[in-house]
Amino acid sequence: MASKSNKTQDGYTWTPTTGVRRGDLHCKGVIEPREKRTAPAGHIYDAIVVGAGYTGLMAAREMTDRGLSVLLLEARDRVGGRTYTVEADGILYEMGGTWVTHHMAYLFAEMIRYEMDRDLLITHHREYENDYYTLNVPGANPRKITHEEGGRIAARAWNIFVNVDGQNCRQICPLPHAALNNILVDRKEVERYDKKSCQERFDEIKHLLTNEESGVLVALLLHISGGSMENSGLWDMIRSHALMSYSTDNFGPIWTTYKLREGQSELARRMFQDAVGHGLQYAFQTPIQSISNHAGFSEVKTVSGTDHRARRVVCTVPLNVLRTIQFTPPLSAKRKEALDIGHVNFMTKIHAEVAGTGLASWNGMRYPNNLMFGYGDGVTANGNAHIVGFGKNEGKNFIPEHDPRKAIAAFENLHPMEVKKMVGDLYHNLTYSVHRLTEQIFHNWATDPWSQGGPAWWSPEYMTKYQDELQSRHGNILFASADWAHGWRAAIDGALEQGALAARVIAAERRDAAESSPRSKF
Ligand SMILES: Cc1cc2nc3c(=O)[nH]c(=O)nc-3n(C[C@H](O)[C@H](O)[C@H](O)COP(=O)(O)OP(=O)(O)OC[C@H]3O[C@@H](n4cnc5c(N)ncnc54)[C@H](O)[C@@H]3O)c2cc1C
Repeated sequence: MASKSNKTQDGYTWTPTTGVRRGDLHCKGVIEPREKRTAPAGHIYDAIVVGAGYTGLMAAREMTDRGLSVLLLEARDRVGGRTYTVEADGILYEMGGTWVTHHMAYLFAEMIRYEMDRDLLITHHREYENDYYTLNVPGANPRKITHEEGGRIAARAWNIFVNVDGQNCRQICPLPHAALNNILVDRKEVERYDKKSCQERFDEIKHLLTNEESGVLVALLLHISGGSMENSGLWDMIRSHALMSYSTDNFGPIWTTYKLREGQSELARRMFQDAVGHGLQYAFQTPIQSISNHAGFSEVKTVSGTDHRARRVVCTVPLNVLRTIQFTPPLSAKRKEALDIGHVNFMTKIHAEVAGTGLASWNGMRYPNNLMFGYGDGVTANGNAHIVGFGKNEGKNFIPEHDPRKAIAAFENLHPMEVKKMVGDLYHNLTYSVHRLTEQIFHNWATDPWSQGGPAWWSPEYMTKYQDELQSRHGNILFASADWAHGWRAAIDGALEQGALAARVIAAERRDAAESSPRSKF
């Protein structure tokens, strides 16, 4: 059932000989021909879905499954949005959303449906030469340690940081899918914690930590939030801990271990093809510019000037992009305020191919550095290590597609890659073997006009003020996105949750309308 791949306009590659190139990567998520519309002009669909990320795919698949007529409009040339896979040198590179787990119920159900639940790859390999963890933080000597010791340092610091209630978050966040309004915790209590930034919480507990623990914790928090300590909310860390079943033992298995062998784009494509099999109409490379509500239907206008009509619209445009769409009547002042603030995640993720297999077993971190974490992630067909580097928001200081040398320097800072031996203050006479970086592959989600950021991480008090508003509808328009999901916000599962919920509401309304008036669907 594997599908063929076409070239996407998304993503960048860099090699020493070619420099930075754009639009040269193969991806199974690219849809050709880009359009399939058989409905006559002026046709009113049951629903228009804007955006073919996992939220939009889920909404479209669920509605077409239930017999609704649906048009999907997507700005890019491919399905998957902030999750897609490119193929180069015989391996698959996940450019956005990557890791999967049975802890994510909506996602796991999709993996089972498309028979991908057992067809997995593992990120970490222990059998190669550089099977160790490197740790380099202010106030402590850089060290080479075991992966287990690295895990213990991070776990101790994280556990102290998130244990705000003395009950390992079980008291304050017993039901992470219903954080604000649940049967066990007074909303006001949750709001009290939601006010805090990661910096404020860190200031409360830092005296309990060693320099190494402090450095690793700060880097980890920024790795997760993609923002700064001041603009990253504490609550999202508490929520994540609860979703990880309140245990750092689950950190690795849930967040950084299992990948789909055929790639995220294969899963996204199977969902899309399923919906097409049930009548989905679609147009890719079709950004929309406005949505207006009328009595009984909505009109969606594309940037190229075409109008499409539907009884309902599922708008999955990401949080940081939504402010660019015009709505009639206008959105509420509160929602506009939320969109103006947006989320804070401007993370960097860069894949690198490094000569030799050794670094496939390495993990490491360095803070501060343009890339704070590096993970060995398998071996390419060329017999080289594939490593993935992650950085926080470096703003104007570091734009990988403009200055790939800074990315190389950032990788070399994490672990020497062109140097035979590092001797001196910095590395304290530790010996590292030779590794030459030969290729980089990446997508810059921060400069991408259709994402304007990575997975949504919220600032202090954002949930209290805006979650209910972001999740509410605007007349015929339902807003659905991983960026304001109930449960796994900022993850694939949150996207699928939101798509499923929107589809369920629209299908129920269709059923009600059909029952009350046999001649009208809504
Ligand atoms: C680097 C990175 C790593 C991640 N790692 C993980 C991970 O390991 N595990 C995990 O579960 N999650 C991870 N995530 C998060 C996950 O990928 C996202 O939360 C999820 O894919 C978002 O899905 P979505 O459908 O809500 O939004 P999107 O995927 O962004 O889909 C929205 C779609 O709307 C389209 N669009 C935008 N504007 C317009 C317009 N004007 N007109 C038409 N279409 C438009 C976009 O092109 C896009 O296709 C990661 C994300 C990133 C960026």
